[in-house]
Amino acid sequence: HAKEKGRNNVQYFTAAMTQTAIERLAIEQDLRHAIQNDEFELYYQPQVCAHSQQILGVEALIRWHHPQQGLVPPLRFIPVAEESGLIETIGAWVLEEACRQLSDWRDEGICNIHIAVNLSSHQLRSASIVTQVAECMQRYAIKAGELELEITESVAMDNPEHCISQLMALRNLGVSLAIDDFGTGYSSLAYLKRLPIDILKLDRSFVHDIETDPNDAAISEATISMAHALGLKVVAEGVETQGQAYFLASIHDCDLLQGYLFGKPEPANIIVEQLKKHLHSH
Ligand code: C2E
Ligand code: MG
Ligand code: MG
Ligand code: MG
Repeated sequence: HAKEKGRNNVQYFTAAMTQTAIERLAIEQDLRHAIQNDEFELYYQPQVCAHSQQILGVEALIRWHHPQQGLVPPLRFIPVAEESGLIETIGAWVLEEACRQLSDWRDEGICNIHIAVNLSSHQLRSASIVTQVAECMQRYAIKAGELELEITESVAMDNPEHCISQLMALRNLGVSLAIDDFGTGYSSLAYLKRLPIDILKLDRSFVHDIETDPNDAAISEATISMAHALGLKVVAEGVETQGQAYFLASIHDCDLLQGYLFGKPEPANIIVEQLKKHLHSH
């Protein structure tokens, strides 16, 4: 009996794996046409000052309008794009589009906001990333501090020497650097202190129960004081309630907040209304 069961499990497992493999292959094939067909769009989510709640910037988050499947979330195609190397082309498009958008907004009188762009490990390893960013900044007259690049801890972990020199070159261009999903990776503090970064983004898994879970509160508080001692700013991710916002801003002295409480990621034409309103009220 047990043997039979075991065998069935193996069959199910294999079937599931094959399904995943087929799906991946299909995604990869469709991704190859997505750029030419103009199927990607950047959504933008506000990042607000924790104390004044003024919008200081936005994070650009990619969306894929698949011709048959509709809106495909990034977590379903970014990993495929990374494995297949397509992330180089997609990442270059994201960078270009974010800078173009920032310069468009500037033309509309919306100034003094930054755009944060997610950079994958493949992009950071790429020999051309520094010139790519430099050219983009030049083409759209992006000033120091207007472009932020977000990398995850694990990105920074493999081949630290190369990674650190790439980050330094990017920073020399006037780009701000943020560690995304901070606290979920495995990097040591000894390593972290060597990274030329400006911002830590406290992962939303610590924010969710911050009011009720003393461990999450302790991690948040310790992260923020450590960051401040190192001269870094902290953006808390996934802020959904006033209670969480109050806790982070008033008790832990967090610098910036990002989450559904202040706005979900939205297309440029919707976010621009929010940015204009905020211009008028300040
Ligand atoms: P991330 O960079 O950590 O982005 C934050 C994610 O949290 C976004 O998911 C956002 O929609 C979601 N989020 C924001 N506020 C809240 C909240 O209050 N509650 C909850 N539950 N979630 C919130 P999204 O847009 O699905 O993106 C997922 C991930 O995909 C990103 O995580 C990032 O790692 C990756 N990604 C997105 N766009 C790009 C891109 O252009 N390039 C690369 N390489 N990766 C990207
Ligand atoms: Mg991010
Ligand atoms: Mg994040
Ligand atoms: Mg996250």
